[in-house]
Amino acid sequence: MWINRSISEFQLSKLWRGHWKARQPSAHSGKSTGIFHPLPTARVILTVRIILVAFAVIIAGVLWVTAGSGQTVPAASRTGLTDYGTTQTTGTSAPAADRTAQPDDRTSPAGPAGEQAPPLDDRTKPSGDGSSSSADLRLPGQAAPRKPAGPVNPSPPEPDPTEPNEAVEPTLETTNGCEQRPLTDKELAELQVNELGGVPIIMYHDIGDREGYLIRSRDNFRKDLQRFYDLGYCLIPLSDYLTGDIRIPAGKSPLVITFDDGRASQLKLIEVDGKVVADPDCAVGILLDFSRKHPGFGHSATFFVNYPRMFGTETRAVEYMKFLLDNGMEIGNHTLTHRNLASASPEEVAKEIGGLANKIRDLLDYDTLSLALPYGNYPRSKQFLLSGRYDDRYYRNLGILLAGAEPAPSPYSLKFNPLAVPRINGCDEELDKWLRTLEKYPERRYTSDGQSDTVTICLDYGLVYDIERVGDLKVRAFAAAVEIAEDAGDGTHAK
Ligand SMILES: [Zn+2]
Repeated sequence: MWINRSISEFQLSKLWRGHWKARQPSAHSGKSTGIFHPLPTARVILTVRIILVAFAVIIAGVLWVTAGSGQTVPAASRTGLTDYGTTQTTGTSAPAADRTAQPDDRTSPAGPAGEQAPPLDDRTKPSGDGSSSSADLRLPGQAAPRKPAGPVNPSPPEPDPTEPNEAVEPTLETTNGCEQRPLTDKELAELQVNELGGVPIIMYHDIGDREGYLIRSRDNFRKDLQRFYDLGYCLIPLSDYLTGDIRIPAGKSPLVITFDDGRASQLKLIEVDGKVVADPDCAVGILLDFSRKHPGFGHSATFFVNYPRMFGTETRAVEYMKFLLDNGMEIGNHTLTHRNLASASPEEVAKEIGGLANKIRDLLDYDTLSLALPYGNYPRSKQFLLSGRYDDRYYRNLGILLAGAEPAPSPYSLKFNPLAVPRINGCDEELDKWLRTLEKYPERRYTSDGQSDTVTICLDYGLVYDIERVGDLKVRAFAAAVEIAEDAGDGTHAK
């Protein structure tokens, strides 16, 4: 079934009524001027003229309305992001207060990794027209949230044959392979499409010679990428996940990679044949290399940094960050000084978050749109996490990332809570546990329908979505084949 939210006939009739009303006063005033006291013949001519003018006006009106009806709601309009702190929810959405579900028990970096989310509840999707507003709800005086300087789901830059460069490598493909034809229900079932499933957001710190606490060995990092690829994942930018703008081919699953602390092992720029490129042994070098060899996988990653030292350098910090942005990666907020916010006052929280956001804005003309909590610790008050003001400038975060827990809920799910976006620690134990879980239980895994303007829901897995998060997107539901539901059970499987 389809729920299409484009301009309705009701809206068209409203437009027409508005147009008609607007005409009334002028017609009336023309009559009441009292300038003409014409003879009968002149009165006939005048009447004919009035009819002709009225006819022309009606034709113009009809043309105008017809042109208007041809417009559809642009997909981009749904980047109108919801500020859960300041707005009311609609439809079946939970009240804003309910959604700030208590994530405080996840404050240790390790997190209660073994905890399973409760099963989907059986609230059904809204009936009727299902229309919802996707209002761009902003703080007073705040500019529209804008995506990072790079393009949404960045395409590889145009190759320049005369100047081969790390950033313009022609084989560097992205995951932008959606906008396929709509699939049949049978195809959706075969691909186990489920856009209410979880999305792994992997947290890395150091990439080093060998494994250690918060260190992933290079070899294992390469193996991780291969494993993600083999399991059908594509890398997407974190901001695409947070805004629900996921563009990957049908049957593929999104995965987000993040790096904390701006450590030196994440990015090292070297010069090769007069060109500045990423050292093939740093995380970015490994990622770009893998992406070139595995078309369609993508190379998005988000780097949560502090100030002023980033990637082992202060003097070249701007150059390093620009390199990331030029290669379709994102910069995230990890606070100004990596302070443990547990003991910070609300004003200090605003200073730490706003301070870093302002620095990055000044240095790169780039807005950080997400925050990773240092040590995974919340401040006592969450008041200034999602938005606030420091030094007379506003900042905004679309998501607050925890320090490791479980796959993040679908961005269209009622479970999505911008104040508590869980991540999976990039180590053997956690990756094994969660990747296997998502492989075994397709109802828990986000699998794309290949169309970024549609949220496709498998009826067998439940039908609970957040109407506000879905916004202007179309919603399609289908029933999976019985054999696929065989292992799905009640959705409460642990491990
Ligand atoms: Zn950190």
